[in-house]
Amino acid sequence: MRALTAYTSYWGTWNERPFRVRVFPGGLTLSLDMHHKVRVYTYDAEGRPWTFLLGGKTYRRALNGVMLVKWREPGRPRERRWLTPEEARQVEAEARKAVADWVHALKQGQARTEEPLPPEVWRLLERILTFDEARSREDAKRYAQVYKPIGILPPDQYLSVVVQITEGCSFNTCTFCTFFRDRPFRIKRPDEVREHIRAIRAYLGEGLYLRKRVFLGDANALVVPMSRLIPLVEEVRRGLPEPAFAELYAFLDGFSGEKKQPEDYAALRERGLRRVYIGLESGDPGLLRFLRKPGTPEDALRAVQAMKAGGLAVGVIVLLGAGGHRFAQAHVQHTVELVRAMDLGPEDILYFSELVVTPDMPYAREAVREGIRPLTPEEQQAQMQAILSGLSYPRHARPRISKYDIREFVY
Ligand code: SF4
Repeated sequence: MRALTAYTSYWGTWNERPFRVRVFPGGLTLSLDMHHKVRVYTYDAEGRPWTFLLGGKTYRRALNGVMLVKWREPGRPRERRWLTPEEARQVEAEARKAVADWVHALKQGQARTEEPLPPEVWRLLERILTFDEARSREDAKRYAQVYKPIGILPPDQYLSVVVQITEGCSFNTCTFCTFFRDRPFRIKRPDEVREHIRAIRAYLGEGLYLRKRVFLGDANALVVPMSRLIPLVEEVRRGLPEPAFAELYAFLDGFSGEKKQPEDYAALRERGLRRVYIGLESGDPGLLRFLRKPGTPEDALRAVQAMKAGGLAVGVIVLLGAGGHRFAQAHVQHTVELVRAMDLGPEDILYFSELVVTPDMPYAREAVREGIRPLTPEEQQAQMQAILSGLSYPRHARPRISKYDIREFVY
């Protein structure tokens, strides 16, 4: 199939209501019943369901087949939940039926487009209709052969292609994080990265072009020593040479980053690295110790300074509610001091991530043992405001400030 590379819209009417088919690199969106109770169905260019907007709720299918639904009742905060496998199957089936009914109406002349749909759009519609329950299950299985579970990405990187040049986290000590407990830390060899990228390309197919940028996984890809990192980054460059994938992004956690010098970051910048995301969590050394986060606030500051001197932007993640009531004051005060010293600018991002505690986390047990009262959502919100007012950025020099909700992560 010819790749869908341009953004083109085709308008039409069905049952006296307008509809629109929008094709774009890597996918297609069908919007039915526009100007009424709009229903929106988006698929990637392999026919995989991607997002649906139905009845005011947004559904997002992850490549591993699970589905997240988000909605907001008037005057209430946004809500979300993961669908059960049966519910996800039903949503996919209902969407497929809606597309099939519309395709049938087009073929029968009951629905009409203002200009004819080109053959590559018809072929994509066929792919969508044949992506049935069995294919959906098979696709999720193939995904699990290509990737180790991807625990988390920064919210501005959800549409990156993840390339796991390492697996796991080199620390795995933090009491609030269970993302990488299932695997030991491992640096891949260049030939493994080459094969991994080949498998990603074969798996994503034309759906690859839905994505922009590359995220180097897993938790701590930049901990790799330079002599091993550069050949891995060059494999990524060779395996994904398209301009859309020219920019690279990665996490650096636990502040092993202080060991890299500005010239190391400059060498990575030359090879496409643009921003490094740092799980700072807090500027308070006592809280970091309680969280068993490796490194000190000074290590984090030195790492950020080295990255910026090497020409990189940073994304700094602060953990709201960490340490509950006990640490709240020190958390705000020392985070303000540390983030101010980082001198973040408009190219940087300051993320606020709410602490989400699950019973399997060591944090849950330790907080109970220490008698720590968790902050309510309102108190976490107030904590964010207190940090922001302590930072008081001038408008023209503000970093991007955003929420980072790990419950909404979908790859
Ligand atoms: S360093 Fe980061 S990825 Fe590793 S355990 Fe801590 S929070 Fe999780």
